[in-house]
Amino acid sequence: MWTIACRPILAVWEITLACTLKCAHCGSRAGTRRVGELTTAECLDVVAQLARMGVREVALIGGEAFLRGDWIEIINAVRGPRNGLQHADGWSRSHRAENPKGG
Ligand code: SF4
Repeated sequence: MWTIACRPILAVWEITLACTLKCAHCGSRAGTRRVGELTTAECLDVVAQLARMGVREVALIGGEAFLRGDWIEIINAVRGPRNGLQHADGWSRSHRAENPKGG
């Protein structure tokens, strides 16, 4: 439990450095997957930690995030209980409140 007045509400998370391109302007210098990138289980643990911290929005970036075979699992975890997962994230709650018919 965070007890300080200042806590993160937004996380921008580079879930892989892998990319099929090598753009000259790339701020991440993406291309090759990092040695030791997080496993699926480790990513899901990070999602749970972000939720516990009260993070309301998570942006998944890369590299090319879709090159991770588990990207949909990570996204579903970030989206939270709508997909039957146990933790709740602020984004899902606030988004559902603003969009009660879905979307
Ligand atoms: S992550 Fe984006 S900017 Fe970087 S090399 Fe890949 S496509 Fe280009």
